[in-house]
Amino acid sequence: MANQYYIGVDLGGTSLLAAVVDAESGRVIGESKRKTRSELGADGVTTRLVETIERAIKESRVKRDDIVGIGIGVPGPIDPTTGVVVRCENLGPSWDQYELGRTLDTMLHLPVTLDNDVNVGALGEHAFGAGKGYSDMVAIFVGTGVGGGVIIDNHLYSGSRNSAGEVGHLIVQAEGGPRCNCGQNGCAEALCSRLAIERYILEAIAAGESSIVPDILVQAGREDVSANIIGTAYEAGDQVTIAAVNKAQFYLGILVASCVNLLDPQAVVVGGGVLERMGDAYLEPVREAAYQRFINHAAAEEVKIVRAGLGDHSGVVGAAILARDRLS
Ligand SMILES: [Zn+2]
Repeated sequence: MANQYYIGVDLGGTSLLAAVVDAESGRVIGESKRKTRSELGADGVTTRLVETIERAIKESRVKRDDIVGIGIGVPGPIDPTTGVVVRCENLGPSWDQYELGRTLDTMLHLPVTLDNDVNVGALGEHAFGAGKGYSDMVAIFVGTGVGGGVIIDNHLYSGSRNSAGEVGHLIVQAEGGPRCNCGQNGCAEALCSRLAIERYILEAIAAGESSIVPDILVQAGREDVSANIIGTAYEAGDQVTIAAVNKAQFYLGILVASCVNLLDPQAVVVGGGVLERMGDAYLEPVREAAYQRFINHAAAEEVKIVRAGLGDHSGVVGAAILARDRLS
């Protein structure tokens, strides 16, 4: 079957993942992953991106002529009509107003479309992941930060300036809340991200509470409290980590309830590094906190709060779906 293959790209601060995706089934036919090396700047990273895409095509054994186009998830605001990256904080200033779409089109001779990485992840989960079959859903990705995407009536909702879905910056504790990366106080991201859990743990240790986290960090030769380290300490019964995780789960529940009260979706799909590591059980306290705060209490549990189903692939599959929807 020709003309059903699309390339999905997940352009991350740490790694680049490119995949050839069968847009009929959502299946990844071939993929390639490598380090981003953001210090090379926008042109250097784009060259690496082209090589990564070429490797994914080679691995897939799909004929180039059968590939319709390329979709890319970018970690920052973009202009979908021009293919320009507006800004990319974690990749560096050379990405300001960078013409990624046009540059790649020239190098690969394939049409290119871009969107925000979490919007693209939401599209992937809606098409082939945990959100499949729901016409209205919200995706929330909990990692270093907290991002999201909104699907309304089976379409990605972008807003009037392509800024919709910034669920991480819903303010859930304005007074006395911790400072968020965006400059405001008490955003959900500052209360339920992986960095928030890390901060709770480090604050408790600084206040004299005893925890095994410093020992685990030394053993792992790391300085940052990764999702994996949080999971290890949690499973070992470390009380400081359990309290930190509980606090993050509570605020994630409040965030989920706020999204549900605004949009009344059929499902809220929760993914990202923290969920990948902690598994389904992570969502039980989140559901409890959320259900209590739904304005429409009737059949509250009909609103599904579920873990993302595509794992690392939600970005590339979603980017391929984005390309299918926009380029075909
Ligand atoms: Zn914020």
